[in-house]
Amino acid sequence: MNHETAVSKAKEIAEQILAPAARQNDKDARFSSEAIAALGPAGLLGITLPAEAGGAALGPRTVAAVIATLAEADASAAMVYLMHTCATATIAAARPAAAVGQTLKDIAAGRHLTTLAFSEAGSRSHFWAPVSRAKRNAGNVHLTAKKSWVTSAGHAQSYVVSALAPEGKSPTESTIYLIAGGTPGLSVAGPWDGLGMRANASAPMILEDCEVEPGLQLTDDGAGFKAMLDVVLPLFNLGTSAVALGLCRAAVAGTATHLNAARFEHLGQSLGESLPTLRAQLATMQIDTDGLAARIDDLVDHLERPRDTTMLRVLESKAAAGDIAIAVTSAAMRVCGGAAFSKHMAIERLFRDAHAGAVMAPTGDVLREFIGKAILGIPLF
Ligand SMILES: Cc1cc2nc3c(=O)[nH]c(=O)nc-3n(C[C@H](O)[C@H](O)[C@H](O)COP(=O)(O)OP(=O)(O)OC[C@H]3O[C@@H](n4cnc5c(N)ncnc54)[C@H](O)[C@@H]3O)c2cc1C
Repeated sequence: MNHETAVSKAKEIAEQILAPAARQNDKDARFSSEAIAALGPAGLLGITLPAEAGGAALGPRTVAAVIATLAEADASAAMVYLMHTCATATIAAARPAAAVGQTLKDIAAGRHLTTLAFSEAGSRSHFWAPVSRAKRNAGNVHLTAKKSWVTSAGHAQSYVVSALAPEGKSPTESTIYLIAGGTPGLSVAGPWDGLGMRANASAPMILEDCEVEPGLQLTDDGAGFKAMLDVVLPLFNLGTSAVALGLCRAAVAGTATHLNAARFEHLGQSLGESLPTLRAQLATMQIDTDGLAARIDDLVDHLERPRDTTMLRVLESKAAAGDIAIAVTSAAMRVCGGAAFSKHMAIERLFRDAHAGAVMAPTGDVLREFIGKAILGIPLF
């Protein structure tokens, strides 16, 4: 599969599977199993994996385009795909001693959905500092943890889980493990009823003395933090930026459709023909959306050809994308007026979904902290 095929398959799934069901899934907070049932056979669950694992070895350019395409139809499904892609990258980068060959083959074959379980109730959005600690026991380790949000909770075949290393001394000396769904002690701790992203099952999960064999330890002891920064962060920030782009594109398209369709009968004009103020706001939405697309292209270029400014771009991109998605969808709510407010159209779902990006870790505030420190040469941690 090449870039064009991957994006065209994503477009087909977005139009035929995601878009028709997005409204009802959002209303019912229902996880779209149909989305996964389509993404798997289409080969999209393994696009980043190397050819020897059965993947398509495609890079950040394709990941961003696929995610933005899915998000334009259903941001919840796009977020499920993003978490899967980040978890897959972590499994693929596992230390040589890890026994993850079959998991990678299953992902490439479209039979396996995975996800990240980093955030904990105790350390909240500071995912780099888990408060749970792995305990060593006769060659295996045992994990007990309260994971506060896990996208695809209860629906994934595996969970990429962080915990402090058994002998870790600092708050960031973590280790990452792969926990199979169905492992004794692993359970979903409650329902997911979010403001937005309602169809992605981002529920809390509990690990109660889960036993993990050495083969499912993905990083060396204490090397979890490095994997979070080197493997997960660039992909996650790119992907959340792409989700924001999809939301913005959908908001512009939905607003334009409304401005052409809704009419002032007494004036004999559509809303768009009648009111220059609405046209100007639509124009600003378009400018912001294209600006975000350019920012994502720039980040892709930095990830493809890493240089001194790459980490700064990684941080900036998600910080900017979160704000742009909120601004563009808020403008759409205002331009579409009561029609948007009364849920006659998809705009209010986009508006709610758009608020997730800025609060997902690293949050917009934390990113600004990091960027400010980086500019001043102050250590980030
Ligand atoms: C839809 C959704 C899906 C999610 N999916 C996953 C998932 O799959 N896996 C996973 O591990 N996690 C997931 N999360 C969790 C997410 O990544 C964050 O950990 C979570 O949203 C943090 O919320 P909190 O209330 O704990 O934030 P808090 O940490 O309590 O933050 C509260 C406020 O303080 C600000 N703040 C915190 N620290 C600083 C700082 N140092 N400087 C300045 N301001 C600061 C924050 O920006 C925020 O405004 C998900 C969250 C959501 C909403």
